[in-house]
Amino acid sequence: MAKDGKYCKPERREFLVPSVVARKRISPNFVRVTLGGEALRRFVPMGYDQWFRVFLSTAAGVLRLPKRTNGLWVAEYMLMSKDTRPIGRNYTVRQYRAEGEYGEGPELDVDFVLHEDADGELGPASAWARDASPGDELGIFDEGITYRPPADTRWRLLVGDESALPAVLGILGSLTDDLPTEVFVELPHPEDAQPVRSLPGATVRWLTRERGVPVGETALAALRAADLPAGPGYAWTAGAQKLATGVRRHLVADRGFGKDAVTFTGYWR
Ligand SMILES: Cc1cc2nc3c(=O)[nH]c(=O)nc-3n(C[C@H](O)[C@H](O)[C@H](O)COP(=O)(O)OP(=O)(O)OC[C@H]3O[C@@H](n4cnc5c(N)ncnc54)[C@H](O)[C@@H]3O)c2cc1C
Repeated sequence: MAKDGKYCKPERREFLVPSVVARKRISPNFVRVTLGGEALRRFVPMGYDQWFRVFLSTAAGVLRLPKRTNGLWVAEYMLMSKDTRPIGRNYTVRQYRAEGEYGEGPELDVDFVLHEDADGELGPASAWARDASPGDELGIFDEGITYRPPADTRWRLLVGDESALPAVLGILGSLTDDLPTEVFVELPHPEDAQPVRSLPGATVRWLTRERGVPVGETALAALRAADLPAGPGYAWTAGAQKLATGVRRHLVADRGFGKDAVTFTGYWR
């Protein structure tokens, strides 16, 4: 059972330590890391945009995790000394398989964007994914779902950049109705697109960002120019902070959306 609220949180949570069973470059900007191991038997897949916290070992190879699993884990984490505190980031369940393909129990696929900063360096989580080898361990902590349409929703809108692609695909893969669904995904390369489950009411627009154009502008321009369905809509948007807030601002100011009808999350800034 999950806890219902603004977001849908898992009923019970614990820090789990799965290990890498495979790593694969799946497209120009994505690496898929498959996690496995008996620890994942205690992971409860919820579908949609289910996300979890990732904790990576320190440079000395130590993986120390908080012991508390209620809200106090954050304080415990922050109180760890810098040299023992694991690096924490957030990722999305791309796929969970109760019986995996690699013969090591359940498996969880995570699609990591290999993004570079202004100096051409990868962030710690992207670098970890690029170099991940079978047997490498990490900590994970389930956070549940943010996709929460109101009951009167007549159509839905999903907008994201590449960091939100796993969540958009998770939502599309979990839908159980044929409501009209308008999807805008902005990517750095057309080959980063992935196959989408065929849904009768869905229109998926893959938008390629030209080199030098700030992240999010391409998706926002396409959204502003789009003819969208009438009636009460629900929007879910995530990715670069500017994209998520820009989408929300446009929908509320120009398209008559109530603030409660938009779930927006800045995945990075
Ligand atoms: C709920 C949630 C779910 C997420 N799911 C996924 C997921 O499934 N896959 C995924 O790849 N990401 C996902 N993200 C985004 C991911 O957590 C961030 O991109 C994270 O900052 C990456 O960590 P890092 O250590 O690689 O880089 P950091 O050390 O955090 O950042 C290094 C530099 O890169 C920049 N940067 C960070 N992320 C990006 C990016 N995506 N594109 C371009 N520049 C960036 C930063 O501004 C900084 O300059 C999710 C975020 C949230 C909040």
